[in-house]
Amino acid sequence: MTYPGIFDFHVHIGETIAGHELADDWHSFSRLYEHQGLEGIGLFVTESEKEELEPKLERMREAAKAYPGKVFWHLTPRNLDPRKLEKVLAPDTDIKLYTTYREAGLFCSFTDIKRFMKDMHSHKTRLLAHCEDDKVVAEFSERYPFIKPSDHALRRPEKAEISAVEKLLDLAIQHHYPLHIVHVSCPKAALLIQEAKKEADYITCETAAHYLLLNEESLNDPQGHRWLCSPPLRSETSRGQMVELLQDGIFDLVASDHCAFSCEDKDVGILHPAKTPMGIAGSGALFTLLAEHLVDKGKLSFEQLFRLISFNPASLMGFDTQKGKYQVERLGAPNPVVPSLAETHNPWMDFWSHFELRRII
Ligand SMILES: [Zn+2]
Repeated sequence: MTYPGIFDFHVHIGETIAGHELADDWHSFSRLYEHQGLEGIGLFVTESEKEELEPKLERMREAAKAYPGKVFWHLTPRNLDPRKLEKVLAPDTDIKLYTTYREAGLFCSFTDIKRFMKDMHSHKTRLLAHCEDDKVVAEFSERYPFIKPSDHALRRPEKAEISAVEKLLDLAIQHHYPLHIVHVSCPKAALLIQEAKKEADYITCETAAHYLLLNEESLNDPQGHRWLCSPPLRSETSRGQMVELLQDGIFDLVASDHCAFSCEDKDVGILHPAKTPMGIAGSGALFTLLAEHLVDKGKLSFEQLFRLISFNPASLMGFDTQKGKYQVERLGAPNPVVPSLAETHNPWMDFWSHFELRRII
């Protein structure tokens, strides 16, 4: 049996987030292509105060030539003027907007998103949405000060995600607008998406490996700050239900939301949890982790897994899955999971896997 390579729809490299430069780069991703079968990625490009979207995309396209795989571009503009957007949009791009992160200048209100859908009606460029209702986040952040890593889960509760997902689904259906909801982390949000999909085949969604395999208990570890990401890890009940919903076929794909920081940068959180840069690595671990913890445990078949991490994401990015051919190898002894090639630390470092993807063509 041969399989295609891995297509990771959700990756962050080559940017600065919360003042910290991301730890992986095109060099490390070229190695993930060579050794982990990472045939293609969807990469985020965020317009900043210092650099406009158009030159930044051009610069990142140039740098990406070092990577032998395929790259699709998820663009976050600061200015939603359609005339400006037309200049950067191409067949290998879509748009990503955030319903939170006011301090970082990324926040879009639901009214902004409604206007965007109206303005872009003739283009119908797919919209990716980070769904956490900023009002709910503000309310809970006020209630729970950020003193220890586990407070993050209280400050950004499931309620925030559910509220934003509900509003975005309504807008997408109202405007017949193609919508992809990124990193769904809780079952109630997934169920709302399942309902909406019944009447709108232009709605898709993803979850990430960490919401399927980890729960918020990790935040209580002595190194809890290193597991911090947004949306945060959820309860064990939610995690278990997320796996069941994955089995039911609610998610179109599983991505890594790879966002690796150096140990030094992440460890700012030892003294100041609130200042920890949010995100964990995972792109190089997507196949091995899910093969070990979902397929080997009888929760998914390899066919289902490759639909989630190869065929479906490749199809959403317009990539051909015929190029690379791989075989799944079961190793005699388990190897440590390699999520990232940079000097990072994250939960996956403590995981082991019996599975490897070996290139045959
Ligand atoms: Zn992300």
